Formats: sequence, structure tokens, C-alpha cells
Amino acid sequence: MSKKESKKPLKLWTCPKCERMFRRKNQIHSCTKYPLEKHFEKKDLAETLYNDLSSKVENQIGSFYVESLPCCIHLVTCAYTFAAVYALRDGIKIHFTLDYEVVNDRIDKSSQMSKHRFLHSIDVKSDKEIDKELIGWIKLAYNMKKQS
Ligand SMILES: [Zn+2]
Repeated sequence: MSKKESKKPLKLWTCPKCERMFRRKNQIHSCTKYPLEKHFEKKDLAETLYNDLSSKVENQIGSFYVESLPCCIHLVTCAYTFAAVYALRDGIKIHFTLDYEVVNDRIDKSSQMSKHRFLHSIDVKSDKEIDKELIGWIKLAYNMKKQS
């Protein structure tokens, strides 16, 4: 007897207007294209930190793509946003969601979104802060794609 493979490959729908990918067809979304560079106007430090973060995510966690929205920059894998980056004048703010609450002095804010969803916010002002611990949390957030 052979067990039938229950995992279907994820089929994504691409919005023809903004080219974002979604798990559901005709998913309602803001549908605005916003140039990535605009986030970093007069925010050189934010750009440096963002580039450092994204190369570490790529090298130490896995592949992803970027959705630049007017509010922030989404880091996405399999149509799941595992982190959002906000460009600030003196650094970047990173949001990520985990299925438990991280209690740590570095977390500036956390809030419970639902039973197993905790949104965390952390401000990063130097590349030293993009360390093993932070990448570890983002890796856990990245792997939440399987549960969503
Ligand atoms: Zn769209």
C-alpha cells in the first residue's frame, strides 16, 4: 500500500497590475507599485542596514522576494510575508510574526494578533544588531510559511 502524497505544490496567483503573488486568486490588496529606492531617500543608514539584512537572510535562511509598498518593504517567500522593514531616519524597524512571544530586551514591542500569532517589532540602528539572534528569529518567522 502506498500513501498518497497529500502535499500539493503551492499554486500562486500573480496580480497582473502590480505583479505581487498571492495564494488566493483575486486576493484583495493595496495594488500599488512603489519604487524600493524611494524608501531610502535621505536615509543612507537605513539602506545600508536593509542591504545587510537582506543579504544575511538570503545566505543564512533562504531565498525570498521583495514587495515594495508605500508603507514598508515586505520580505516574502511562497506568498507569505515573513518580515516587514520600515526605513527610518536613524535605522530600520523590522516586524516579524512568530507563534510564540519572544521576551527579550531587544524587542521593542510585541502584540498578540491571534491565538498563535505574535507580532514583534525591533529597531535596528547598527549592522552589529543584525546578528545571529535576530537572524534566528527571522528564520523562525520564515518557516511560519508552512503553517499559514
Ligand atoms: Zn495588484
